[in-house]
Amino acid sequence: MGDTLFDKIIRRDIPAEIVYEDDDVLAFRDINPQAPVHVLFIPKKPIATLNDLTAADAAVIGKLLLAATSWAKAQGFADNGYRCVMNCNKDGGQTVYHIHLHLLAGRQMHWPPG
Ligand code: AMP
Repeated sequence: MGDTLFDKIIRRDIPAEIVYEDDDVLAFRDINPQAPVHVLFIPKKPIATLNDLTAADAAVIGKLLLAATSWAKAQGFADNGYRCVMNCNKDGGQTVYHIHLHLLAGRQMHWPPG
């Protein structure tokens, strides 16, 4: 069992605005949203960074992305579009060491990101 902030959210030790949950994935609104919609999709399995993924995690990662895209469709903004981001380690801007997929929507995104 991990003990990051996100593990505490999975265990309901700290509150979050949860928008989706299944056996493998939890999704909740980012506390500091960078777009009108900003949701974090996380695996329940504690994996610190993208560098820690192994072949055994292929299904978990697939489920994470499918959960996010299914939720985007269900919310009605998928056709307009959205952005999915996963940050890795310091230079990637990662601050919570439990992998997470940022789903951002509701405004025009720009490229390159900062
Ligand atoms: P990253 O910088 O990619 O590691 O993303 C971590 C994200 O977690 C940031 O966008 C934070 O705003 C978000 N965050 C931090 N604490 C919380 C919390 N208690 N509930 C929801 N989101 C959080």
